Amino acid sequence: MTDFIIDPPKPVGLPIVGTDAEFPVRRVYCIGRNYAAHAVEMGHDPDREPPFFFQKNPDNLDPSGEFPYPTQSSDVHHEIEMAVALKSGGTNIAVEDALDHVYGYAVSLDMTRRDLQGEQKKMGRPWEIGKAFERSAPIGPIHPVESVGHLSEGRVELKVNGEVRQEGDLNQMIWKVPEMISYLSNYFELAPGDVIQSGTPSGVGPVEKGDEMIVHVDGLGDLTVRVT
Ligand code: MN
Repeated sequence: MTDFIIDPPKPVGLPIVGTDAEFPVRRVYCIGRNYAAHAVEMGHDPDREPPFFFQKNPDNLDPSGEFPYPTQSSDVHHEIEMAVALKSGGTNIAVEDALDHVYGYAVSLDMTRRDLQGEQKKMGRPWEIGKAFERSAPIGPIHPVESVGHLSEGRVELKVNGEVRQEGDLNQMIWKVPEMISYLSNYFELAPGDVIQSGTPSGVGPVEKGDEMIVHVDGLGDLTVRVT
């Protein structure tokens, strides 16, 4: 057995519906501006320009149902996203083969320090401090494809304190799940354990400590997340 000079980090495991076994996370890819109405609200053209991606860290995924308000920001936004968990990967994956690599789906949030992201955008700098901070991706349990099938349509809805803030339909995604997987695989080697956040519909906005978010995607149930 290999000796490590310090204790190696614990693998990140996500709960799965119907089993005590967990899904081990390798990488987290997130697509930007994947719903036209959200692209418009962020001040961009809704045309189908090539997709772009950023990454979060595996241990940013958090199934606890609690979102501690992060440091260094006073404008933290919710973005509801469907997460896609891969059981296999590769490079140059064809669109028509892409869904064969999906293990399952989950509801999730791409929490964003919008003020810091805005400053980074203005200066042409990377987005990590706006996006890839501690516990920035609350996520529900993964629903295996074998029980829910593949999801290409269905209501996406986020409520804050009982009020609907974001709503849309999976069928409004500009880049569909198989296209995202195929595109990413041309630039990265995808592998088992990779998770993709598939973009958010319009209606993003700030949360405050004490808020309760209910994150819903048809077929994947509800995730309740408290801002603490
Ligand atoms: Mn997002």
